[in-house]
Amino acid sequence: MKALVINCGSSSLKYQVLDMTNESVLAKGLVERIGIDGSIITHEKTGQDGKFTHSAPMASHKEAIEHVIRALLDGGHGVVASMDEIGAVGHRVVHAGEKYASSILITDAVMQVLEDCVDLAPLHNPPNILGINACRELMPKTPMVAVFDTAFHQTMPPEAYTYALPYAYYEKYGVRRYGFHGTSHKYVAERAADMLGVNIDDLKIITCHLGNGASVTAIKRGKSIDTSMGLTPLEGLVMGTRSGDLDPSILSYISEKENLPLHKVMDVLNKESGVLGISGVSSDFRDLETAVEEGNERAALAIKVFAHKVRFYIGAYIAIMNGVDAIVFPAGLGENSINMRDIICAEMGSLGIKLDLVKNKVRGKETIISRDDSKVAILLIPTNEELMIARDTYKIVAGK
Ligand code: ADP
Repeated sequence: MKALVINCGSSSLKYQVLDMTNESVLAKGLVERIGIDGSIITHEKTGQDGKFTHSAPMASHKEAIEHVIRALLDGGHGVVASMDEIGAVGHRVVHAGEKYASSILITDAVMQVLEDCVDLAPLHNPPNILGINACRELMPKTPMVAVFDTAFHQTMPPEAYTYALPYAYYEKYGVRRYGFHGTSHKYVAERAADMLGVNIDDLKIITCHLGNGASVTAIKRGKSIDTSMGLTPLEGLVMGTRSGDLDPSILSYISEKENLPLHKVMDVLNKESGVLGISGVSSDFRDLETAVEEGNERAALAIKVFAHKVRFYIGAYIAIMNGVDAIVFPAGLGENSINMRDIICAEMGSLGIKLDLVKNKVRGKETIISRDDSKVAILLIPTNEELMIARDTYKIVAGK
C-alpha cells in the first residue's frame, strides 16, 4: 500500500508518499505561502535529480492539495498513475485534548472532536482541519487517519499533568498539561531501544526534541510519564522565539509597563522571546553560533540559557524516573549542533552521563555518542514523524 502523509500548517503544507511494503519514501514536498501572494510547491521524487518547483496562486488549502495531487500524478516527477493507488492518507493533528490516546480513523465524529479542540490549539488545529477537509473532498473514497501530537503523552499520571489551579478549570475547560511532539518522542525512544538492543519495557529514556519548538520527555517502559510542554506548546524549554517556563506574574507586569493588552503580551511570549528575545540576533542557532564567534555576548548568553533549561529538565526527569538509561537528541538542533549537545551533557559525570567528544562530532545520523564507560547511553537519532504517521495509518487502514 502507498500512504500519503500530510502535515498542514497555517500557510504551508508538507507531504510525503511512502511505499509501506518497505517503508521507502517515493516522493516528498512542500507547499509554501498558501493564501498569500507567491504560493509555490517544491516537489522531489526519490532517485530523481533536482527538485520540481511550480508557482501558482493557491488561495486555499484545497487548491494547495490539488497541486500536490497534480505533482504526484505527473508523468515525469509523479509517483502514481492514479490517486486510487494511494491506499490511505495520514494527517498530523496537533491537539486531541484528552479524547484520543492513539491514532484514529477519521470520521465525521472525529472531525467534531477536532473542532472541539480548536479552543485548546487555536493556532494549530484549524489548519490541520482545513487540510483534512480538503483531502476528504478531493479523495472521498480514500480512508484517512489522524495522528496526534498529544496522544503519546496521554499516559502521564495526574500528578504530572495537573496544574495547581482551581480544579474547576480542569473540569470545565480541560486546563491541564497535554504535551506535544509526541510522535517524535515515541519514534526516537523506540529507535533508541532498537539501537541498544534492549526491550523498551526495561528502559528509562529522556528524549530531547530540540528544534524551533523544543520539548523534553521522560519515558519509562515505553510510556511518556512527563513532558515539558503543557496546555499549549509555550511551556517548558526556552525555544527559538517562545519563552518557555515563566513566573506568570510577568504577564501582568509587562502588560502594565508596556501598556500592552494581554493578547499582545502573549504574542511577545510566542514570537519575540526565546533565544531570539535574549540575543536580539536570531531564533536560529546557526546564526547565534556565528554571532558568538564574532564576540556577541548576548548570543552566547542565549545559548547558555537554552542549555541550562535542557539540563534542568534532564535532572528533573532523572529524579522522577529514579534514574535514566538513555538520553536521546532528535530534531534540527539536537541532530545538528555538536556544540549544544556538548554544553548540555557537560559535567554530568556523577550522574553517569559522559559524552564522547570525538563521537559527538557528527550531524544528522543515527549513532551512539556516549563514552564506553558512560552508564547512560547518549544517542543521536534523527526524528521521522512522517514514517510514524505512515505506520499508524497503515496499521489502522490495512489492519497490520
Ligand atoms: P521545527 O521542525 O520545530 O521547525 P527543526 O527541527 O527543523 O524545527 O529545527 C530547526 C532548528 O534547528 C533551526 O532553527 C536551527 O536553530 C537548528 N539547526 C539546524 N541545523 C543546525 C546546525 N547545523 N547547527 C545548529 N543548529 C542547527
